[in-house]
Amino acid sequence: MIDLDDTVVCGYFHSLVGEEGMKVIRNMPEGEVTDEEISTVTEVMLNAVRRTLFFLYENRLASYRRERDTNSGWLTYLWRVDLSPLDSLLEDERKKLLANLEKRLLFEEENMFYTCKNECGRCFFGDAAELDFVCPKCGEKLMHHDNEEVIKVIKKRILKLNPKDVNNDPDTTIA
Ligand SMILES: [Zn+2]
Repeated sequence: MIDLDDTVVCGYFHSLVGEEGMKVIRNMPEGEVTDEEISTVTEVMLNAVRRTLFFLYENRLASYRRERDTNSGWLTYLWRVDLSPLDSLLEDERKKLLANLEKRLLFEEENMFYTCKNECGRCFFGDAAELDFVCPKCGEKLMHHDNEEVIKVIKKRILKLNPKDVNNDPDTTIA
């Protein structure tokens, strides 16, 4: 089952279909429906519904069946959304995000940073020494920057992305 509140799932869809598209995906009726029905149920403009359906179709997350009215000759498209192929795709996305965060964490843990009291920017110790520990922007003294908060945030995000079988409570896992 695809969890639409999951950070990775949300991020994935949001970047591709935007807020309106998310609304369509979240409130999509079960079974076969026309785009107009989807628009009514989700309260999203027909154009945005069609855009979203097309995106889902392109990514094999939606399919349609055409039906022809024998009297009028009108064609009706009956849509069905199935997000289950997304699982493997999201696993890749999750791994990519995790790898990035772990790289970032290592960078934060292995380096010593310097900044001024206005936090104009951050630099390495070597660069700070070269600047005689004076901020090139505001002229304030450069001091050691405590990045413990940053590290804590990154660790929390890593925990959030990790599978649910590990201890997933950031408050008890992070000292
Ligand atoms: Zn400064």
